[in-house]
Amino acid sequence: MQGENKKSQYVITMEDQMGVKLVTVNLRRVLYTSLILVIWLPILFLIYLMFPVGEEVRLLFEGTFISFELVSVAYFIITTKIAGNADLITTSFSIYSFWAFFEFFGLLLSFVLYYEQRDLTVYYMTIAAITIVAIMYTKALLIYIGVELVFTVVMMIFLKMEPYHIVGAAMINGMFVLLSRVLFKAQVSTHLMKEKVKNISQDSEKDPLTGLMNRRGLERNVKRAWPQASRNKHIFSIIMMDIDNFKKYNDHFGHPQGDVCLKSVASAIKSAAARETDIPARVGGEEFIVCIPEAGNQAEALRLAEKIRTGVEALKIPHSPLVSNPYVTLSIGVASVIPGEGDSFEKLYQEADNSLYKAKKNGRNCIVSGNYIYGGNTAPKLKEKTEEIPVTAPKKRQTAETRKDS
Ligand code: GH3
Ligand code: MG
Ligand code: MG
Repeated sequence: MQGENKKSQYVITMEDQMGVKLVTVNLRRVLYTSLILVIWLPILFLIYLMFPVGEEVRLLFEGTFISFELVSVAYFIITTKIAGNADLITTSFSIYSFWAFFEFFGLLLSFVLYYEQRDLTVYYMTIAAITIVAIMYTKALLIYIGVELVFTVVMMIFLKMEPYHIVGAAMINGMFVLLSRVLFKAQVSTHLMKEKVKNISQDSEKDPLTGLMNRRGLERNVKRAWPQASRNKHIFSIIMMDIDNFKKYNDHFGHPQGDVCLKSVASAIKSAAARETDIPARVGGEEFIVCIPEAGNQAEALRLAEKIRTGVEALKIPHSPLVSNPYVTLSIGVASVIPGEGDSFEKLYQEADNSLYKAKKNGRNCIVSGNYIYGGNTAPKLKEKTEEIPVTAPKKRQTAETRKDS
């Protein structure tokens, strides 16, 4: 009983998951099928003209052919137009109405051909095309089986279908319905496998505790963004952050509470660095980074750094009583460069790390970039403290000097 429940639940989930995906696959199939029909039908029609048939039947036959051709042209145009940008209902309607037309004309032709020549070729072709070309899930397949049953009964009553033809039609139908199921399952498992692979590769780039990117994710993004900044002559900025006196926090509140604190800090960083181009990541135990590959100027990175610093301060997470600051704070180092020859991400990273080190040395809860220190509540020991955030990037020469100073 339990197993049964589990199974039906699994099927529903699987089909639900497949819903949207199948619609896109089927729309593509409608596109290709209608294109093939547009080309193939006139050829088939020419072949058919070579066989002599009764006048009445010929009229019906030709009418069906022409309608079928027109419908195929219409669907080819419609599906080309809506591919990829129509809503789900319009797309689904286009697909199902196409297959309904397909089935209707196919069966009509089969009826005429059977009446005229006791021939089921078109009928078998229709079965094959509908069951194989469209990917059907259970409901669509059940409707198809119902239609086939009704058709067989009509053929039995009105055309006195031969018993061996009935058996043949039933067998071919059964075979293709089975094949359709197998194809459907294969499509589902391929889809699920793709999803799994996607999730695994996404998970491997994510820090499980904070949900931020990890170092691997950062590296992949930087590999793409660094050359782009270099090509476009954009300023690439790095904001390096480290929680102040976090060891004391852990010692006082315990490691699990430390993890909670890390999560809060991470979400403050994430909500500040919310632009699509920002690359926030956790790069160490209590160390974080935000890369800004397309900063308009260096002030932008400093402004974001200040937003993060005050954002974390505003969380008012009580710190250990052994720490002078009552709340958890961040020290931040910022470095920027327009990537040129001789520059590298590693070098810029090192520069930001050096600035972070200086921020720690200068009383923590502050931002250091080159020779400048911003924010915080302790007296600066660096050369200058400016209230204004400078617009131009600090020269590299200055950074080298300050490195000597510290
Ligand atoms: P500073 O202000 O100079 O950065 O001092 P600090 O105590 O923050 O720096 P230190 O590098 O001495 O200590 C970092 C601490 O971060 C050590 C460790 O207890 C803690 N830590 C690192 N990773 C994790 C983690 O995943 N969870 C928790 N709860 N703590 C962590
Ligand atoms: Mg720290
Ligand atoms: Mg640290």
